[in-house]
Amino acid sequence: MKRFISIAVAFVLMLGSSGLIVFARDRCECGTPPIVVISGFATVPLTYVDENGKEERAWAPSNKRIFNGVAGVIPPLTRLMFDKNWETFLDKTNPGVVSIFEPILCDGSGVPIHNIKAREFPLSADNYPDFYNNDINDEQAFIKTAIDVYGGDHIYFFNYDWRLDPTDIAKELKDFVKNVKNETRHDKVTLIGCSMGGNIALSYLRLFGSGDIHNFILDNAAFQGTSIIGECFMLDFEFDSDAVLNYIYQFVKSDVLDSFLRMTGVFDKLIPAVEDLIEIISGQLSSEVLYPVFANLPGIWALVTDDTYEQAKAAALDSKENARLIKKIDFYHYEVQQKAEKLLKKAKANGCNIMILSNYNYYGIPITPTRHNNNDILIDTKYSSGGAVCAKLGSTLGEGYVQKKTSCGHNHVSPDNVIDASTCMFPEYTWFVKDMKHLDYPYGTQGADFLMWLAGTKKQPTVFSEVSYPQFMEFDYKTGKLTPTAEAAAAAAVIEVLNPQTGG
Ligand SMILES: [Zn+2]
Ligand SMILES: [Zn+2]
Repeated sequence: MKRFISIAVAFVLMLGSSGLIVFARDRCECGTPPIVVISGFATVPLTYVDENGKEERAWAPSNKRIFNGVAGVIPPLTRLMFDKNWETFLDKTNPGVVSIFEPILCDGSGVPIHNIKAREFPLSADNYPDFYNNDINDEQAFIKTAIDVYGGDHIYFFNYDWRLDPTDIAKELKDFVKNVKNETRHDKVTLIGCSMGGNIALSYLRLFGSGDIHNFILDNAAFQGTSIIGECFMLDFEFDSDAVLNYIYQFVKSDVLDSFLRMTGVFDKLIPAVEDLIEIISGQLSSEVLYPVFANLPGIWALVTDDTYEQAKAAALDSKENARLIKKIDFYHYEVQQKAEKLLKKAKANGCNIMILSNYNYYGIPITPTRHNNNDILIDTKYSSGGAVCAKLGSTLGEGYVQKKTSCGHNHVSPDNVIDASTCMFPEYTWFVKDMKHLDYPYGTQGADFLMWLAGTKKQPTVFSEVSYPQFMEFDYKTGKLTPTAEAAAAAAVIEVLNPQTGG
């Protein structure tokens, strides 16, 4: 027995010297790099521990906080009905409204006031069945599908505190990726940046380069911002009933309700009153609620577009009081967002595959001058695609439209004449899906299959690599089918010939 133990000990010692090398060489041979899904904005609630040691929700605000904040509005509202004094009303109610957001507040330097935690998922996805199993859309749908296709031990979900600057979050992602590489025994990972996750992924390229990355996918990413955020900071509000009705229709899809609302003209009557009210209250509401709550969050500034960035900053921040915050968000804006094309091209030159996904044919939140921009519900298509020329919603680029850039020799104008992708950062690597909502790609649909095709690709795919996945496709929520737009248009033309009375 003693002899056996000493042999065993000798064997272990021997392994000890060479063992590490043996393990390091023992790479996974499956051929598919592990996939790291970088969450979008607030997919998972942020939590904090309250004074009684109980875990509470910080974002989205808890019902209790919303109730308390709103309850405080009622007494001043009664008074407002008599004296019509909005200033006194807002003096009384704004602190209560701010208290709804208290847990997420940052100070004027952009530093969180309270200790909040974003739920972490350090292990592979098969360790968190409660997280993805019940959801059929968005990041969870992606993870659920990827587990079916690639196995749960090669899929990871990176979640973060979205209030922080993306370059700070990218440092956490670096450790995360290192861990994924070790656990899966791969040298590289596939990064898929969903929505705001694209901003984190791009920050990663800026800080750490592309050495760790096999496929770099931007899925309806905010890497070039989205119009509405900067416009809100600039208090640039605009409305019209058509945009509001179309926006509602996207969610409710009821022709009866739509005809009813259009017939009554309720929004035509309501909107001038809302505009007048905004004129009266936006100044006080922004300086006491909007700016102290949201303009102090560095992460929000990463969602502001280049067109609006400096103006929004001038409106919402003070160059002295917010100097540290400004320094931080300027670095992201000028070194990451504005240099996106350069960063991506460098990654590409170093052997990283680049894929960009952009959805269209939806209204965004219809309260600003860009409300008729083609959008995926949250992000303007021209930004998520990295620079496509897009027709306004409900219209086309016009008869006889000529593609802006023709040097590559391809056609990059969509068959529906709504998108010109020739101006994108990567016309050959950018796919457009009509009628697919932001990140959606529901589980069990051809939309989800398409994402898997992208995520599992070995070599750089182009919009010409696979006939089923050309540059322009459209998604049907009823059937779950993803169809090349050209085919869909041809099929629609046939139906129109068969039933001429339904045409026009
Ligand atoms: Zn593997
Ligand atoms: Zn081309």
